[in-house]
Amino acid sequence: MWQDSMASGRSSRSKKSHDCLFDGALVNGHSTLNVPNNYDRRQWTDIDASSFAKNTFNPIRTFVEDPDLQPNPEKNVISLSIGDPTIFGNLEPCKEIIDAVQTSLKSMKCHGYIPSVGTRDARRAVARYSSINGLEVDPADVILSCGASHALEMCVLCFCDPGENILIPRPGFSVYKTHAEAVGIETKFYDLDPTKSWQVDLHSLRSAVDNKTRAILVNNPSNPCGSVFSKEHLRDILEVAREFRLPIIADEIYEHFVFSGQTYHPLASLTNEVPIVSCSGLTKRFLVPGWRTGWIIVHDINGALKPIKKGLVALSQKIMGGNALIHGAIESILEKTPQAFFDATVKVVEDNAVLAFNALSSIPGLKPIMPQGAMYMMVGVDLERFKEFPDDTAFCKELFRQESVFCMPGMAFSYPNYFRIVLTVPREMILDACDRVSTFCEEHAKYFS
Ligand SMILES: *Cc1c(COP(=O)(O)O)cnc(C)c1O
Repeated sequence: MWQDSMASGRSSRSKKSHDCLFDGALVNGHSTLNVPNNYDRRQWTDIDASSFAKNTFNPIRTFVEDPDLQPNPEKNVISLSIGDPTIFGNLEPCKEIIDAVQTSLKSMKCHGYIPSVGTRDARRAVARYSSINGLEVDPADVILSCGASHALEMCVLCFCDPGENILIPRPGFSVYKTHAEAVGIETKFYDLDPTKSWQVDLHSLRSAVDNKTRAILVNNPSNPCGSVFSKEHLRDILEVAREFRLPIIADEIYEHFVFSGQTYHPLASLTNEVPIVSCSGLTKRFLVPGWRTGWIIVHDINGALKPIKKGLVALSQKIMGGNALIHGAIESILEKTPQAFFDATVKVVEDNAVLAFNALSSIPGLKPIMPQGAMYMMVGVDLERFKEFPDDTAFCKELFRQESVFCMPGMAFSYPNYFRIVLTVPREMILDACDRVSTFCEEHAKYFS
């Protein structure tokens, strides 16, 4: 088909009569060009972007890459906005991780294309890494991707056609919406409850389901909330999925990234019925977001996901495979990275969470919500107190302009009246940032009567 139309397009063009082409799509008696009749081919006009491109919107990137957003030149910038733990140099991948890639590079075997779903060794290593008691992962059920966001994109595109929908958390990571809405897949929110450590409001989850719903997306531990769901709560969510026979897309990129006293439970380990595709990767836990290596694990518990597995393989073939260098290293990375490395990272984040929580709790008008894991904290803003700001975005912009502290407005997570801070920065910076936020809030609360 494709070749046919290319060929006929080419031959038509070589024989084209100018007038024919300018007037529209009629070439050699049949319309091969498929352009609107009013398309003026005699001059350059605006070359319009596709609706796919125009409907693609990533609120986080749009906000941080806004050229109008300028800090106070007299104060150093403290960026608490982007979830990249490597920015400040206080958190770095350990020697085992670096050595693994060096070995991979020098082996001279990792320069070429690799299979779209990942190399055999990489799939086996991810399967082993993701297997726990009672949850044995088969390498054949692993598909590697270019980061977890690519994994999520494939999942969203695989479950839904345009006009159908997935249920996503509010507040939630914006990329789910970005992937879906670009192609006309709808997203419907279910709510997380800030008064219950951001647990899912199960009533809102149930009522969001309609006859076009194809999957529920669950993000645990959560960005932006830093919440970690208990086993019991995850079972409640699974029960809703079972009730409506809905598969779950589990965004588990923060797997194991939980504070002391908390336990991470892979969703798939808690059900022997609900089909789950789980997305994760090296990005956050191994502190290498720029290496763009993630994966999907298809937990086809009851055999219902065969077509999805096939679909995901097809979608993985859109690009010519992942990063060969990292695939060559991933077995070593996953097996040799010491637990002490992970523990040290989580400790930095947890200590910062406690510091920031205490500091921000004492500021009238702010209400931080203590996280249990991941790398973030949501902070409520009582805009009644800061009346000059119409919304959280205006609050964050002015905070940046005045104090050079960069926070992500809640609206980027579809959750107004909050902002999110990143907890991976050096300790002094978190303290400095909280001081500046305090100064800012004091000054702007003067309009509060
Ligand atoms: C960072 C993040 C991702 C994406 O990770 P990449 O591997 O960099 O694509 C996915 N989901 C959540 C919730 C994240 O915070």
